[in-house]
Amino acid sequence: MKRNDYITWDQYFMGVASLSALRSKDPNTRVGACIVNDENRIIGIGYNGFPKGVSDDLFPWGNNETLFDSKYAYVVHAEANAILNATSSVKDATIYVTLFPCNECSKLIIQSGIKKIKYVSDKYADTEVHKASVRMLDAANVSYEKIEFGEIKYVEAIK
Ligand SMILES: [Zn+2]
Repeated sequence: MKRNDYITWDQYFMGVASLSALRSKDPNTRVGACIVNDENRIIGIGYNGFPKGVSDDLFPWGNNETLFDSKYAYVVHAEANAILNATSSVKDATIYVTLFPCNECSKLIIQSGIKKIKYVSDKYADTEVHKASVRMLDAANVSYEKIEFGEIKYVEAIK
């Protein structure tokens, strides 16, 4: 008889997204993303970090300085990295992301042809960045759904 405590596809793909987030060196924000096609295959993953060759040790991770000396000038968001890292077309795909996409990432999601967003946190829902995202996603018919991720016991699974 098969076991009943296996995780759902949503938990599985959000699990990959949240594991990817743990790779981020950002001291304040860790975000992960996982893009999945209509055959439930992972075609791209990413987390927030600096571009290739832009050293984590030489460039600033702070956020209270001038733009030149803050992370905002240099960091690539998880969604953008997942789209850029994709191994096949993301047209009509679903992106799992631990945090609701910002307006810049929503532009990329729309233009890349991704049709669905699944997210866990929308802690910036009161900001204009979030509202601009929603405004664009609605206009472009990209759906977004908050999912309950729950707690996955990774360690227990590999005992
Ligand atoms: Zn973003």
